[in-house]
Amino acid sequence: MDNTVEREAMFYDQLEDQQVRCLLCPHCCLLKVGEIGTCRGRKNISGKLIAINYGKTMGISLDPIEKKPLYHYRPGSQILSLGPNSCNFSCFYCQNYDSSQISCPTGYISPEQLYNLVLEHSYQNYKQVAFTYTEPFTWYEYIYDFAKIAKDTDIVMVTNGYINPVPLKELMPNIRAMNIDLKSIRNEFYVKYCNGGLETVKQTIITAYNFGIHIELTNLLIPTLNDSDEDIKDLIDFVASVSIDIPLHFSAYYPAYKSNIPPTPSRIVLRACQLAKEKLSYVYAGNIWSDEFKETYCPKCHNLVISAQRRIVGIDDKGQCNNCSYKIYGVF
Ligand code: SF4
Repeated sequence: MDNTVEREAMFYDQLEDQQVRCLLCPHCCLLKVGEIGTCRGRKNISGKLIAINYGKTMGISLDPIEKKPLYHYRPGSQILSLGPNSCNFSCFYCQNYDSSQISCPTGYISPEQLYNLVLEHSYQNYKQVAFTYTEPFTWYEYIYDFAKIAKDTDIVMVTNGYINPVPLKELMPNIRAMNIDLKSIRNEFYVKYCNGGLETVKQTIITAYNFGIHIELTNLLIPTLNDSDEDIKDLIDFVASVSIDIPLHFSAYYPAYKSNIPPTPSRIVLRACQLAKEKLSYVYAGNIWSDEFKETYCPKCHNLVISAQRRIVGIDDKGQCNNCSYKIYGVF
C-alpha cells in the first residue's frame, strides 16, 4: 500500500520564520520547520502543516458495536473499525498505549478504498464505520475527506473529546454517534495524568449532544485517582445536567503503560453504577466479571428492553418500549 500520502492540514496559522500553529485541538502546538505536534500526526514541512498520519491505519477490524462501547446504537451490529497511530493525550495508564503512544507500522487506505470496504461490510443495509482505538480527531482531514465521498455512511467516533470548537462544529454534521471518554470530573486529573483539560471535553459533550449526535460516555475508574464517591457523584451530576438519557459506562482499569496501580476491584465499578442509577436512566458496568448493569430496562415501566447479550427484546420499530411506549434513547 502507498504509505506516502501527505495532505495539508486544516485549521492552522502560518507565522513568522515558517513557523505554524495548529488549531485543531487546545494544545495549539507551535511548530518550527521539521517539528511534529504533540499528537505525532501533524508536522511542519517547509512552513506548511501536513497531516503525516493521513489514511495510515494500524489495521482494520470488524468489531461488535458494543466494544466501542455503544449500547444504544444499533445493538448487535458489527462495525468496520480503524484508527490512526496518533493521540493528543498521553495518559500514563493508557490501556491502548501500544497503538496510541508508540509509533508502530501502518498501511495506507484511501478514503475511496475505505468506502468500498464499508459497502462490503454494511450491516442490514446500514453503512457505518467507527474511527477508534486511539484519538480519531487527530485524523481530522482523513475523516473529513472520507465523509465527503461517503455521504450515506454513518460515522462513529470513539474519542477523548479534546478538540477545538470550530473543527468540531465543521465535522459534526457527518457524525452519527460518539462514545466520549470522560476520564474524570476534575481538571487536575486531566492536567496531571493525561496532558489534557476537562473544560474542552465537557463542551464537546454538550455541543455534540445538543446537535443531535447519539452520545454515550465512558469513565475508566482508576483506584485512588478518580474513584472517590465525591468524584463519581460530581461526574454523574454533570452528565445529568446535560441529559439523564445519556448512557454512562463505568469501566475497570488494568495496569498498563507507565502505571503499576492495581486493577479496579469490581465492587468499585458496581458502586459507581449504583450511584449513577439514582440519577441517570442508563448505566453500565464494563471490564468486570459480573452480570449486573449489563441489561437495559425501560426507565418508565422497568420492562426489559435489551438483554445482557445486547439483543433487543422490548423495543418497537419506533424506538419505544413495547410495554408503555416510552421512547428509549438511541438508534435502533
Ligand atoms: S492536533 Fe496535534 S499538532 Fe494539532 S494542536 Fe493538537 S496535538 Fe498539536
